[in-house]
Amino acid sequence: TVPALAEPAPVVRAPRGPQRTAKGWIQEAAKRMLMNNLDPEVAEHPETLVVYGGRGKAARNWPAFHKIVETLDRLENDETLLIQSGKPVAVLKTSEWAPRVLLANSNLVPHWANWETFDKLDQAGLMMYGQMTAGSWIYIGTQGILQGTYETFAGAARKHFGGSLKGTITVTAGLGGMGGAQPLAVKLAGGVSITIEIDPTRIQKRLETRYLDEVAASLEDAIARAEAYKAAGEARSIGVQGNAAQLVPQLVAMNWTPDLITDQTSAHDPMWGYIPVLTPDEDAALLREAHPEQYRARAYEAMAAHVRAILDLQRRGAVAFDYGNNLRHRAQEAGVENAFDYPGFVPAFIRDSFCEGRGPFRWVALSGDPEDIRATDRALLDLFPDDERLQSWLTYAAEQIAFQGLPARICWLGYKERDRAAKLFNEMVADGRLRAPIVIGRDHLDAGSVASPYRETEAMKDGSDAVSDWALLNFGVGIASGAAWMSFHHGGGVGLGFSQHSGLVALADGTPEAAARLSRCLVNDPGMGVIRHADAGYDLALDVARDRGLDLPSLEI
Ligand code: NAD
Repeated sequence: TVPALAEPAPVVRAPRGPQRTAKGWIQEAAKRMLMNNLDPEVAEHPETLVVYGGRGKAARNWPAFHKIVETLDRLENDETLLIQSGKPVAVLKTSEWAPRVLLANSNLVPHWANWETFDKLDQAGLMMYGQMTAGSWIYIGTQGILQGTYETFAGAARKHFGGSLKGTITVTAGLGGMGGAQPLAVKLAGGVSITIEIDPTRIQKRLETRYLDEVAASLEDAIARAEAYKAAGEARSIGVQGNAAQLVPQLVAMNWTPDLITDQTSAHDPMWGYIPVLTPDEDAALLREAHPEQYRARAYEAMAAHVRAILDLQRRGAVAFDYGNNLRHRAQEAGVENAFDYPGFVPAFIRDSFCEGRGPFRWVALSGDPEDIRATDRALLDLFPDDERLQSWLTYAAEQIAFQGLPARICWLGYKERDRAAKLFNEMVADGRLRAPIVIGRDHLDAGSVASPYRETEAMKDGSDAVSDWALLNFGVGIASGAAWMSFHHGGGVGLGFSQHSGLVALADGTPEAAARLSRCLVNDPGMGVIRHADAGYDLALDVARDRGLDLPSLEI
């Protein structure tokens, strides 16, 4: 079953329906989710196992992928499969309550936690980059980030524009796996957007999946269209092909200022993620291969120009924020001393949600039947009738979101909410309202699962930004509480050396055992967000901890 190296990459699509070939539903779920990550509808570059986020992969190589699938099919219900950076390395006898899979991706001892070391190991076939949900098998396509991106732009709207982005223009860049959610998220928040993207195939993909409305022929054309929509108060998204390192400075030169400016190119990875400014006869891939040092230097130079222009636009009145790709730090390394003059999106707009344990809760229908997701949408609308943000998001999502791969949904839920949703899903599987089990997971970008000083834990109240004990505790808590599979990664969205984070996936298969597992792990996991922020001294988290019954000895709660 392991293909010879010369064989072409297989086209992967997860099995659907209520029959399984694995010995338990958790193993079947892990297998289907791994496969779903690599479905051409879901992954950005499935042929190289790259799911999203620069080179975030689901398995180290094709032989490793086949071995994982084979092993999951034979894995007993009291065994655990270990995955080391995308390669299945052992099956251990554990217990029925243990996770069926434990994954560790891209982790390096801190002194060596840099791209140079990683690249050598990657090239030697010893590691892979796991990003967040790529290497932990819970990526669900661009929808996965859409809700989080919407939360961010809605947060910006609340803070700066009276609650709506209507009548505003946002400029950003990057239409990749994650960045592709930006145009639709801005639109959902009521605004107009211009998104700069270097790769025309990415623009095309976002048009086809309805994340982007239209393409402009030039930057001037994009601005003219955006101004017309802004004047009409119409929410609309415009793409424009080009290099952000050229077009954002061009905005400055044209003396035109948007209302909001941000960026989601893959700046976290200077060698593979950010395209330097090229002459018409240059090709990024060829330059990278032939002259890697020159490539890196030019990528840094371009990121510096990009950030200088963002700072100029900020000085002129644009609301500028970093969108979690480490662009500011790259520019600072390239000499832009004041790169951090604009804030990251978490301290700017998201931290209050994290204090309540609110974060991205996602679920996937293993039946493959969109009707199962529709049923869960209706059930959650009934379960949380007073949550206005959830009501408007789910209503919109049910009508407008095109599924990619297995039908899936995402919404943000907090501490003592996620377990209620999960319990309900488990009951719906048990009584046949859903045709097959539901996988429940989340991004690693969550309230209590990540240490990332330039993103999720930027500017913590007590200065504990770089403390990664919390992420490790989250990993341990998930294992102790009944997760189906758990992962611990390094690097994620901000790159090597800048973050450590943990991922949790659980399963609702309708059994009492699943109910018990869900009731613990989906309380404790978001609980870690409340705990982490209460410990850092946030009043909101302290209130939530008191009101919702957490036991925090050092705080006498
Ligand atoms: P991706 O690699 O799939 O897409 C990046 C896109 O940027 C590509 O389409 C690429 O062509 C384009 N690009 C690169 N250089 C460019 C340039 N100079 N000008 C214009 N376009 C350029 O990555 P993704 O999954 O979309 O993620 C984007 C970034 O956002 C990553 O750094 C990721 O880690 C980060 N991220 C942030 C969050 C968050 O905090 N909200 C969440 C996930 C990912």
